[in-house]
Amino acid sequence: MVGSEGAPGGRLGDAVKAAGEKAGPLLERMLAFDTSADSSVSPLRQEAEHQQFVAGYLADLGLEVELLEPGAELFEAHRMAHPGQTFDGRPILWARLPGGGRGPSLLFNGHYDTVPVGSRDEWHRSPSGERAGDRIYGRGACDMKGGNAAAVAAIAAIHDAGLQLDGDVFLNLVPFEEVNGMGTTATMLLGKRADAAICAEPTRLRPTIASRGILELEVNVAGRSAHGEIPQPHHSEGGAVNAIDKAVYLLAGIERLDRQWKALPRKRHDLLSPPAIIATTIQGGTFWATWPDKVTIEAEVIYLPGDADGEGTGAAVMEEFEAYVRTLSAADDWLAEHPPEIVWRGDVRPVEVGQDHPLVRVACEISSLPPAGFDSSADHLYLITEGSIPSILLGPGDIAQAHTADEFLDLAELERCSRLYVELAAAWTSGRS
Ligand SMILES: [Zn+2]
Repeated sequence: MVGSEGAPGGRLGDAVKAAGEKAGPLLERMLAFDTSADSSVSPLRQEAEHQQFVAGYLADLGLEVELLEPGAELFEAHRMAHPGQTFDGRPILWARLPGGGRGPSLLFNGHYDTVPVGSRDEWHRSPSGERAGDRIYGRGACDMKGGNAAAVAAIAAIHDAGLQLDGDVFLNLVPFEEVNGMGTTATMLLGKRADAAICAEPTRLRPTIASRGILELEVNVAGRSAHGEIPQPHHSEGGAVNAIDKAVYLLAGIERLDRQWKALPRKRHDLLSPPAIIATTIQGGTFWATWPDKVTIEAEVIYLPGDADGEGTGAAVMEEFEAYVRTLSAADDWLAEHPPEIVWRGDVRPVEVGQDHPLVRVACEISSLPPAGFDSSADHLYLITEGSIPSILLGPGDIAQAHTADEFLDLAELERCSRLYVELAAAWTSGRS
C-alpha cells in the first residue's frame, strides 16, 4: 500500500494530486454560504444554496446526487428529535460515485451546519471565508466544512482521473449535527447504508475510533421556605430547611463519586479521558430574605464505552449514580424523607470501533498515525447506532479551533486530507485492508 506522502502512480496518482488542488477552492466556496444555526428551529440562512452548490458540482461530473427533505413522520418519534424540527430548506445530500461492484463501499459523512459567528468584533478575518497566508479562515473552516471540502474534492478527483474503484463511494452532507444529530439519524432512517464510514470531523488526520457517552442530568433538591430572619425549629416540628445547604451537601458527595470513578481501574480507557460528573448550572431560592425551598442542578455525567449496558445505553451508569445518591440521602434526616428528584433528560451514547477492525487498520496505515479517542461526541455515533455502519472520525483541523472567533484551517493539512481520502477510498474499496 502507498503511504499518503509516497508517490502512487497512474490514475491513482493523478487523483491524489488533483484532490489536493481542488480542496482549497471548494472550501472557500462552501464558507461563503451562511449555514449557521443555534437550534433545531433556527431561521433558515443559506443551507439550501450551500447544498445546491455541492449537488450541482457533483452532478456536473455525472454523479448520482439526491437532495432529501424528509417529512417529520420519518423522525418525530425518535428519542433525540426536537418538536417543530424540519428539514424544509435544510436538505440532506446523498451522492454516489459508482464502483465496480467487486469491493466494499465507503461513506464520507459531514455536517454543513455551523455554530453562529458570535461577536463579529472578535473576528479579524471574514467569517464568510478568507485566505491569508497558508490558512483559510471562516466560520466552519475547521468544524467542519474543511472535512466536507476534502471529501468532495477526493470524490471529484477520483472521478476526473477515470479511476474506477472496486466499491461505491458515498457522500452524505447533513444539517443539525450541532443540535441533535438528526441529519445523520434521518439519513439512516431513510435506509442509506455503506460498509464503512469516515466522519470528516477535525482530528488532525488521526483515525479517531472511540468517543465517550454523555448523560444529561437534572437534580431537584427540596427544602422548606420561611422568613429568613425568624429562627426555625427542627424540620420535624415544621421548621424551614435550606435547600441550598442540602444541595451543597449533595454536590460535595457527588464530587467524591467523581473522584472514586476516576480512580477505578475498570473505568479507564486507553484512548479516552476518565468518566466525569460535572455540575454545569445551579438555580435556587426565590428572594434574598427567604429560606430557599428548591434548588435545581444540571450536570453532565460522562461515561466510557465499557460502562454502556447491553443495549449500548447509559442505563447502568444511571442506576449506579442513583444508588449512590440514595445512600447519600439516607445519611441526612431531611433528604432521607425528601429524596432529591433525579431526571435523566438525554443519553448521547458512547461508541467504539475496535483497533483490529479493518477500517481502523487501513486508516492508520494510510495516515501513518495511531488511533485516537474523542472525549466528546459527533455524528459517527448515529452512523453506528442507527445504521450499524462501522465509523470513525478522521479529518483536517484541530478541534480546539472549533466554535472560536477567527476559526481557521491550515491549507496544507486540508490538501493532505483530501489526498489521504483518495488513497483511503482506493484501499478500503479494494478489500485488501
Ligand atoms: Zn463538527
